[in-house]
Amino acid sequence: MQDAITRRDFLNGTLLASTGMLLGRHVRVPFGISPADAWDGYGGVGDYAHAHGNMYDVIATAHRMRDGVFEQAIASATDTGEMYDLVAVGGGISGLAAAVFFQQRRSGRCLVLDNHAIFGGEAKRNEFRVDGRTVIAHQGSAIFLVPQKGGYTDSFYQLIGMDRPAFAYQSWQGPEAEMSLSHSPYEEPKDYGFYFGSQFGARPGVWVLDPWGRGLDGAPLPAAVKAEWLRSRSADVPAPRPVTEGDAVSRELDAVTLEEHLMARHQISRDTVRTFLSPLAGGGYGLGPDALSAYCDYAIETQFPGDGDDALGDQMFPDGNTGFARLMVKTLIPDAFSGPRSVDAVWQNRVRFTALDRPESGTRIRLNVTVVRVAHAGDPAHAPHVVITYVKGKRLYSVKARAVVMAGGSWTTKHIVGDLPDGHRAAYAQFYRSPCLMANIAVRNWRFLYKMGMSGCRWFEGLGNYLSVRKQATVGGMNKTFGPDSPTVLTIKVLFAQPGVPIGEQGSRGRAQLLGTSFAQYEHAFRQQLGDMFAPGGFDPGRDIAGIILNRWGHAYVNPQPGFFFGTNGQPAARDVLRNAPHGRIAFANTDLAGAMDHRNSIREAERAVNQLLGA
Ligand SMILES: Cc1cc2nc3c(=O)[nH]c(=O)nc-3n(C[C@H](O)[C@H](O)[C@H](O)COP(=O)(O)OP(=O)(O)OC[C@H]3O[C@@H](n4cnc5c(N)ncnc54)[C@H](O)[C@@H]3O)c2cc1C
Repeated sequence: MQDAITRRDFLNGTLLASTGMLLGRHVRVPFGISPADAWDGYGGVGDYAHAHGNMYDVIATAHRMRDGVFEQAIASATDTGEMYDLVAVGGGISGLAAAVFFQQRRSGRCLVLDNHAIFGGEAKRNEFRVDGRTVIAHQGSAIFLVPQKGGYTDSFYQLIGMDRPAFAYQSWQGPEAEMSLSHSPYEEPKDYGFYFGSQFGARPGVWVLDPWGRGLDGAPLPAAVKAEWLRSRSADVPAPRPVTEGDAVSRELDAVTLEEHLMARHQISRDTVRTFLSPLAGGGYGLGPDALSAYCDYAIETQFPGDGDDALGDQMFPDGNTGFARLMVKTLIPDAFSGPRSVDAVWQNRVRFTALDRPESGTRIRLNVTVVRVAHAGDPAHAPHVVITYVKGKRLYSVKARAVVMAGGSWTTKHIVGDLPDGHRAAYAQFYRSPCLMANIAVRNWRFLYKMGMSGCRWFEGLGNYLSVRKQATVGGMNKTFGPDSPTVLTIKVLFAQPGVPIGEQGSRGRAQLLGTSFAQYEHAFRQQLGDMFAPGGFDPGRDIAGIILNRWGHAYVNPQPGFFFGTNGQPAARDVLRNAPHGRIAFANTDLAGAMDHRNSIREAERAVNQLLGA
């Protein structure tokens, strides 16, 4: 740990400290490195090397937009002279899906605008070269479920060229005994361990392997705590589950916090919820259950009851749902990737960036542009079009569109739509989003874990809470076999919950921490933590870590508070105010409008928005 704390091919071991500003906070920046580089850090190789999470420049521009810096200049933006039938603001899964639906229903001229260097939003990938091999992981959006045949998801996947319902995965490599491996970061494989560190008085920390099989035997916890924790896992609880969204059970759940619900359902204490259940119970929502509606735990299964196959489990492209974003782009702009519209070709071939924004193309995707204003040209009820103004570099431009889908997310849409009615504005004020750091740590091999007898683990202090070694889908030339000596990427999700603090403040405190920490500081902390935890397996951070990429998402997750889903005091839910009707020629999408972060909601909200605009 005395080595230079930098990644060797990023900072070349230099750590001459000078003081710089990282998005508003003073931190130490290595001499000769710009604040942007010191914050972004290493980006890997390939299509996504310059787009890992929200980049420094993207955030700086977004904050200037939020603070009204462009207001004066908007009126004098350069008019590009372009008129589109549809503009989608946001090039994540929702914005891309809006373009797909629009072109399917009424082909026309369509423009997708996104502020990052590549499309995909939270569905992007990181690529590393490790000892001559390429290893890949997701930046955010990860898994999908086997779609119900003939159902909504299945039909959409077919529309975009998803040519199989499930994947084949790598098989075991080498002569040693095979270890169980998961397909996704969210499964606990059989060979699993829990780590209890200094927070539990354990120095050095204690590992408990097969913790559930052993009934937590060996964990440095009082017997009563163990009993509560074990009880919380019992499926044998006579609590009713919602069947359809909006039924009586779902409304009752939406009236209380998830924390109160878990305590009552399992007869466990608040402490047990906060110490052991929070990261997982609130995981898909960024914050802990103290802040969330209890319906959060049931929303996705209730919204998509038909999808999923227990035998096949979670499905995951090696780069997560990036695979779907790429398929949508291939569907919209066939020339964007060479080769056929097959999963293998689109997954493997590089993006042809020059093909994305060509005048002759029905759909254009314009990257590296931040939309700062969307407003009708006149009275929204009668205006002939909408004017969309964006910043590219230091200059402002405007385009016109007959219809607009706002697919960027609540936290930006509320600032951009200039003529947003008061009711919509009040509805957006009820949306909270919290940050997340997805750290992808490439290791030369994972023999240290194999030696320790596990392929995945959880811990309860420090950065993040869990990781697992994944066997990957064998798409597009991916190696067919995988073993302890194979390089791989360990993904660690860091959330910023602060139980007990008001919901909005949890988000803003977390963002201050996420944005105010340099790459080098995070790198040092990860190396230290993994070094401590995996010392029994002989892990040496200097030797074994090949690279770290940080994907920082300032507004990663929507955090539905009690009442979010179905409203309070007879008032409509905020999401319904935004979904019920478009505002003139502008309709609203993004997964957050469903109150559950899931690519299928991104798609469904996009379809609803397009249908509203087309009067379908
Ligand atoms: C860590 C993490 C893990 C997840 N895991 C899963 C999973 O396993 N499975 C799953 O189905 N879902 C998962 N999700 C949910 C994920 O949000 C959705 O799957 C989906 O990727 C969201 O797509 P979207 O288009 O709705 O929003 P986004 O991906 O957020 O796309 C919006 C885009 O609009 C851009 N934008 C915003 N404002 C502007 C502006 N003013 N100008 C220009 N561009 C703008 C944004 O930068 C972004 O690129 C996960 C999310 C996170 C954060």
